[in-house]
Amino acid sequence: MNKRALLSSLMCRPVMYPVMAGVSNRRFVRILAYHRVLDVDERTYPFDCELISASVRDFERQMEHVCSRYRVVTFADLEEYERNNERPPENALVITFDDGYADNYEHAFPILERYGLKAVFFLSTDYIGTNAPFWFERLAYLVKKGLVDTSRLDLGPCGDIAGRWRDRRGVLPQEDLSHVIVRLPNRERLRLLGQIEEGMPPLPAGDAALVRPLTWDQVREMVKHGMEMGSHTRSHLILGNGSPAEVAEELETSRRVIEEQVSRPVRAVSYPIASRDFAVNPLVIRLVQLAGYRFGVGYTSGPVRRLEKERYLLKRLKIERYVTFDRFRAKLLFPALFA
Ligand SMILES: [Zn+2]
Repeated sequence: MNKRALLSSLMCRPVMYPVMAGVSNRRFVRILAYHRVLDVDERTYPFDCELISASVRDFERQMEHVCSRYRVVTFADLEEYERNNERPPENALVITFDDGYADNYEHAFPILERYGLKAVFFLSTDYIGTNAPFWFERLAYLVKKGLVDTSRLDLGPCGDIAGRWRDRRGVLPQEDLSHVIVRLPNRERLRLLGQIEEGMPPLPAGDAALVRPLTWDQVREMVKHGMEMGSHTRSHLILGNGSPAEVAEELETSRRVIEEQVSRPVRAVSYPIASRDFAVNPLVIRLVQLAGYRFGVGYTSGPVRRLEKERYLLKRLKIERYVTFDRFRAKLLFPALFA
């Protein structure tokens, strides 16, 4: 057991937890970052396991804890507090989901409902209502199936980016392809994905069902029950790799499409692949402001200390499927320590 695991299990002992809760910072806003809530057999699952944030059972346990200890709010609530010149309540916490997978509706939504919790879902709007897998899932699938022959790919002007991942024979291992793709200027990324796709078999329906995006009916039903929708761009564009025109268009269109579909204002954007430092930059943030967003969330771990100052690059607490319940509770108590 490593030091942090040991520390979190000590802190969460029944006699210690109330003491620790008493000294935790109640003024931080905590934003939880989920992608998917799903039960799968990782040995045979053909897509990206890293995007599975929790099993259904673990998510239920986490929400039961959140419900008993935190004050769950949305970005609409945070904006309302600001408008009234009020600080967010103590122990404010926002639950967020990125991408827009159907499992958010099938598994997470009923649990949120059971505990009377609201959450924010960031949608990549081009995918909503389609059966098309997100481009990074399609790529993960082809690589897992061993179908991509990287030696035949023309990396074009971006060959240099691939340099550090090439093996001794100068070949880019297919497992490292995604490292290169996420770094390419958007036009090059699309060109390369198109090249990879040539001659590839379509996804079997059974596999496609595992990564199905939400439908607009599901989105609307969640909104009717108090859930909030935010933008995750149109095409899951890595904003830092897009031209200013592409970035502005994705930000504006995704926002307009969601607002038309759910008849509610969109206040927040979640930057795709924001764990990478090249995904967000000052120009992207400026364009986010110009597109009318009030908040932007990143994927750097930590608490929000000052909402007003940090509002366009808010830190979140990443919840991954291997986060134990003790670690989850410790992360929420001391977000800077257990980030
Ligand atoms: Zn995403």
